[in-house]
Amino acid sequence: MSSAAVEALDAFRQRCRDFLADHATGITVADVDDPRHEKTHAECKAFQRAVFDAGLAGLTYPTEFGGQGLSDDHQRIWREETANFPLMTRTFSISHGMCLPMINEYGSDELRAKYQAGLISGDLLACQMFSEPGAGSDVASLQMKAVRDGDEWILNGQKVWTTLAHIADLGVIIARTEPEHPKHRGISMFLIDMHDPAVEVRKINQIDGGGRFNEVYLTDLRVPVDHQIGPLNEGWRLATAMLMYERVAIGTGQTGGIQTPMYRQLSNEAIKRGVSVDPVIRQDLMRLYSAEVCKSLMGMLTRAEQQAGKTPGPGGSLGKLAGAMISTTYRDLSLSIVGPGSVAGEDGGKWAKAALTTLASGIAGGTNEIQRNIIGERVLGLPREPSVDKDAPFKDLMVGTQRE
Ligand SMILES: Cc1cc2nc3c(=O)[nH]c(=O)nc-3n(C[C@H](O)[C@H](O)[C@H](O)COP(=O)(O)OP(=O)(O)OC[C@H]3O[C@@H](n4cnc5c(N)ncnc54)[C@H](O)[C@@H]3O)c2cc1C
Repeated sequence: MSSAAVEALDAFRQRCRDFLADHATGITVADVDDPRHEKTHAECKAFQRAVFDAGLAGLTYPTEFGGQGLSDDHQRIWREETANFPLMTRTFSISHGMCLPMINEYGSDELRAKYQAGLISGDLLACQMFSEPGAGSDVASLQMKAVRDGDEWILNGQKVWTTLAHIADLGVIIARTEPEHPKHRGISMFLIDMHDPAVEVRKINQIDGGGRFNEVYLTDLRVPVDHQIGPLNEGWRLATAMLMYERVAIGTGQTGGIQTPMYRQLSNEAIKRGVSVDPVIRQDLMRLYSAEVCKSLMGMLTRAEQQAGKTPGPGGSLGKLAGAMISTTYRDLSLSIVGPGSVAGEDGGKWAKAALTTLASGIAGGTNEIQRNIIGERVLGLPREPSVDKDAPFKDLMVGTQRE
């Protein structure tokens, strides 16, 4: 790299730092006061708008679709710098981490022209609509129907666990377009308008007091044919690509560098409570520290591969699984350090809530068992799980509520 290019990158780094020092001052609303994350989203949205106005959003996306057309080095610098400030974009993790890359990679130019800039600036929020009551791990068994009617598709069915559907403007959805085909080969992906009256969003109450996800019912939702993402009946391939983006986003976090936030929080707590001399607690703290360092290194490797132009591969599952295991270690250790007060509502119930929230990490974005299957089959090259239904027409399968 020429010295002029290095200087330009240094200047860019300084610009990021100055911007973040002024704007990344932390989310002011507490989770407990904002179970649906509506207030949190208002703060994230204002921050993202400022990022966009400063020319620091969508760094590597093309300029004609709202991005900055900059290099992967710029993206890396932005990520490294944001790691030193409080996270201000948490409600955008699905929209920016999964939906936007899919629309950019597989959407038509018309779709990109219509929505991409709004998604980058944060004016628009997109949610991910894959899971159904009978199709979670086995999402290819989904029953949401899409039937073609002239220049439109008509969608009917139910999605579930749809994070932030209640505040989303758009939904990236997969639906069955060809029931005569085997289950993986008759699915297509669409972009839908979450404000359409044919979309009904119902809150799900979470065990940790939150209400961030929803059931979504579609009744005769009309979707223009140009809102199809990617080719007809290739939705499974696209869904798999999006799930890999999801695992990379979850597994590597939104920031870069070595991060040990859980270790730092719990070691401070152990010192404060005078239990840091306990050898068992010390050992568990070091276990947590090592796991967080390894996960960060894995995240850096995955991000580097992505920046080298590779579509995220099954290696994202390693980071995702590591994150879920770290959450479990954090939960058990935090309960040991705080003691019975943790479950008896000490500190406003913060420890009990955190312990309950960790349960989601082994499920969201694909369960630990599914990550282990992917790692076994696609990273280690072990024999595939037997699949007896992969060539049968979907309409003949007894899956979900389809029993006759
Ligand atoms: C916090 C959170 C947010 C979420 N957000 C979204 C979202 O925004 N959009 C969305 O579409 N979905 C979302 N989900 C849904 C998530 O993707 C599913 O919950 C997940 O894929 C598991 O599916 P399931 O709940 O139907 O469980 P199931 O698939 O029914 O699994 C039940 C159990 O069986 C095990 N199992 C299943 N199949 C196998 C197998 N082949 N081998 C070994 N074990 C197996 C599982 O590991 C699990 O322990 C979210 C979930 C959570 C917890």
